[in-house]
Parts: sequence; C-alpha cells; structure tokens
Amino acid sequence: ATSSSKRYNITLLPGDGIGPEVVSVAKNVLTLAGSQQGIEFEFREMPVGGAALDLVGVPLPDETLSVAKQSDAILLGAIGGYKWDNNEKHLKPETGLLQLRAGLGVFANLRPATVLPQLVDSSTLKKEVAEGVDLMVVRELTGGIYFGQPRGFGKNEKGEEIGFNTEVYATYEIDRIARVAFETARKRRGKLCSVDKANVLEASMLWRKRVTMMASHYPDVELTHMYVDNAAMQLIRDPKQFDTIVTNNIFGDILSDEASMLTGSIGMLPSACLGESGPGLFEPIHGSAPDIAGQDKANPLATVLSVAMLLRYGLQEENAARTIENAVLETLNKGFRTGDIFSTGKKLLGCKEIGEEVMKSVGSQE
Ligand code: ATP
Ligand code: MG
Repeated sequence: ATSSSKRYNITLLPGDGIGPEVVSVAKNVLTLAGSQQGIEFEFREMPVGGAALDLVGVPLPDETLSVAKQSDAILLGAIGGYKWDNNEKHLKPETGLLQLRAGLGVFANLRPATVLPQLVDSSTLKKEVAEGVDLMVVRELTGGIYFGQPRGFGKNEKGEEIGFNTEVYATYEIDRIARVAFETARKRRGKLCSVDKANVLEASMLWRKRVTMMASHYPDVELTHMYVDNAAMQLIRDPKQFDTIVTNNIFGDILSDEASMLTGSIGMLPSACLGESGPGLFEPIHGSAPDIAGQDKANPLATVLSVAMLLRYGLQEENAARTIENAVLETLNKGFRTGDIFSTGKKLLGCKEIGEEVMKSVGSQE
C-alpha cells in the first residue's frame, strides 16, 4: 500500500428498504479499497426519502442537501416503499431524489450495461449475442422534453382537448453532456455513438451539429451517429457493437432501461450522475425492493460497483476502482451468488456474507 494522505468526504444516503443494507456493505468495501491506496474517507450519513419523511416530514431535508453539496461524492442506496405510497403527491419519497439531482446540478447520467462472463445465463439474450456486452449509456438528465416550455393542456382550433410538450436543447446543454460523453468514451474503448432523431426533430439536428463539433477536441475518440429507432433495434440485434452511447433525456430514459435488461441482473447494475463541478451522485439502478428489505437477501454488488464508479468518475481514483471491480469478478468466479443471480451449483449467500467475500478479495489484491 502507498502512504499518501488523501482524504475525501463522502455523504451516505442509505434511504429506504434494502438501501441501508447495501450501502453498509459498499461503505466497508470502499473503506478497505481506499486504505490500500493511502486514501481515507470521512463519512456523514444523512436521511433522505421515506426515512427523512418519517424523521422530519420532508423527503429531502435542507441539511441533507447542504451536507451533500459540500462533500466530494455522494452514495445513495434506494428511495421509496409501500409505506409511503398513499402520501399526497408533494410528500412522496421519490420527490427527494428529483430535488437532490436538481440541487446538485447533475446533468449527466452514466449507466453501464455489462454482461459479466459469470452471469451470461441471466441475460435475456441468446448466449452468443450476450457474451462480451460492455456498454455505457450517457443520458442527458436535466433538459429536453421532460423540462421544456411551453407545456401543458389546452384546446385546438376544433375545441378538442390537447396536451403538449416541447423538446428544447440549448448549445451549452448539448456541449456539456457531449464533453462528459467524450471523456467517458476516452476512459473506455474510445468509441462514441450519438443517438438522436435528426431526420425529424430540430432539437436533434442541433444536437448532432454540436456533438460533431465537439469531436474535433477528441481526435482519439471515434464518433458515429444513429437514429434512435435504429439504436433500439441494434441494442437487441448486436449490442456488442456499442462502447459509449450519448443521447438526450427521453431517448436515454428508454435506451438505458432497454440496455439494463440485456444483462438480466438488476442487482448488479450501478449508475453515476455527474455535474459540471461539485460532487457526483452514485447509486444502484434498482429500487428499494421492499419485498426483501430487512431480510439480508439483497444483492449489494450494484452498490459496490457504484462505489467503483464513485472512485473512477467522482474522485479520479482509477486504481481503487479497478480493485473493487476485480474483487466483484473474483467473488463471482468463486461461485458466490445472492438469490437474484443464483443458479444451480452455485453458493447462495446473504447480503452481508457476499459483502465479506468481496472484502476478502479486495484484501488479497494488496
Ligand atoms: P423503483 O420503482 O424504485 O425503481 P421497482 O419497484 O421498479 O423500483 P425494485 O425495487 O428495484 O423495483 O425491485 C424490483 C424487483 O427486483 C423486486 O422483486 C426486488 O426484490 C428485486 N430486486 C431489486 N433490487 C435487488 C437487489 N439488489 N437484490 C436482489 N433483488 C433485488
Ligand atoms: Mg418501487
């Protein structure tokens, strides 16, 4: 181990359901992997979601946001559950997550979809299509049709009811997501596919123009363009052709869910939300899984892999990120599984137990 004295402040937002169980495992893994690289972490745990509603009556307390903003990175578990489902709309736990993203200004959502060789059989695809899939969807998160004005309900000239929304992208919004995407592709296999509908939509025409302009700053990255309908098809037909995909908010919403299902293992998938400056937000893509909460059955590996993303994309600590990813692979290689990825002949472990196996593997890489 090296003996530099790097220190980072990490905000932990365990949230609801299985959130606290998986965050606890990931915190321990982060601490150990960091200590091997001479990195120390100071953790502050804050309430969010249903847990915050119960405690102080709002899903995102001011203090939680201010502590998060002052930290170097944020690790979130999961938010929501049956218990709060019948609340008035403004008191939904999920509102806390939207407020957190807005408060942090995180406009880029990174979602990898990787078919691990050990889990090829979990994929919904045929084995020969699934094998070797390793792609990253970079979704614009704070603009586009989900936020554009004008929007609302009205009447058309015949007096019929209409609903309408507007797809708006300004150059600065496209440029900053394009930059994140090129940087991401550069850290991966150097291939970027920009997905749009530039044959029909003006916002997409501008998108394609600005992404193409940005490419001149990244001569080492190979840029291609694809229409979204074709991209949806290609993801199923031959997902191995993709490395990094960059796309707008609505297309990214759809394509990242499609891509995650190629892997067939929701308990394995991490994500990152990044802003221009300021801390990133890292979380598993799965929800609070209230059906298995409190039973030590949850798969913590999505959160452990989110911590690897926190190290790589949030703190630029590539070595520690790799250590953790290798430890997850080694744990799977040894045949250890949680219920969601279990198959016959493998060893079924609980959340804490598989966490301990990952820790052993991290320790053995010292
Ligand atoms: P949300 O609405 O918050 O996105 P959801 O209700 O759509 O979430 P999840 O909470 O992710 O979905 O749960 C979907 C199913 O997957 C549940 O049966 C749950 O038990 C299972 N699941 C989710 N995450 C995990 C995990 N980490 N380990 C094991 N099973 C999981
Ligand atoms: Mg849910």
